[in-house]
Amino acid sequence: PVLGRDEGRTYRLGIMGGTFDPIHYGHLVAAEQAFDDLKLDLVVFMPAGRPAFKLDSGVTSGEDRFAMTLLATADNPHFVASRFEIDREGVTYTADTLRLLRGLYPDNVEFYFITGADAITEIVSWRDADDIARLAHLVGATRPGYDLDRAWDAIAASGLDFDVTYLSVPALAISSSYLRERVEAGQSLRYLTPDPVTGYLHKHGLYGASRSRYGQTR
Ligand code: ATP
Ligand code: MG
Repeated sequence: PVLGRDEGRTYRLGIMGGTFDPIHYGHLVAAEQAFDDLKLDLVVFMPAGRPAFKLDSGVTSGEDRFAMTLLATADNPHFVASRFEIDREGVTYTADTLRLLRGLYPDNVEFYFITGADAITEIVSWRDADDIARLAHLVGATRPGYDLDRAWDAIAASGLDFDVTYLSVPALAISSSYLRERVEAGQSLRYLTPDPVTGYLHKHGLYGASRSRYGQTR
């Protein structure tokens, strides 16, 4: 790891976790805002391997979700796409990921785990939430339709010692589910996700996309 090489200073590593099925501008703008406001050195986008709470629903392969994440982040010098979670066997728990990362990076690298208002409200109930609190700072980004105050209440009620920074990001009322529905219906994803992502999911027939429709509806 390059981060942490200069022992005289602290590095701030943003970790943007998610299913990214597919990645969209809501994820990207939240991460960019966290990068700016918290003066992060780098943001790592980490598609979940097998997300613990999406086990029963059919999630797209880690390989495809990683490829789209790579395409979406490729032109940003301070964004990186990571295979760290998709290459691990079994169900992905954020606490495990943070423990493993802690073992890889030197102590002068601090972790900032970035989530939207919906995810941060639930984080108190995630496995080993106390370890998550110990290993990372949390960044809770505003997300249309979800109340950050509820996150604040949930975290206060948990009694866990989370260090949370609340962040106001340009509002995008979009979700991966919404993008999947649009593809299925043959509608355009223009201005919702970077074009290379749209190209990839059409080329690979994801979400019911057909190649023949690519071009007309992109
Ligand atoms: P799905 O509809 O499949 O649940 P999603 O759009 O919620 O997809 P996830 O991969 O579940 O995307 O979310 C990853 C992270 O990004 C979560 O912390 C979530 O809160 C955050 N996030 C997703 N969309 C937005 C958005 N539009 N604005 C701010 N944060 C968002
Ligand atoms: Mg979600």
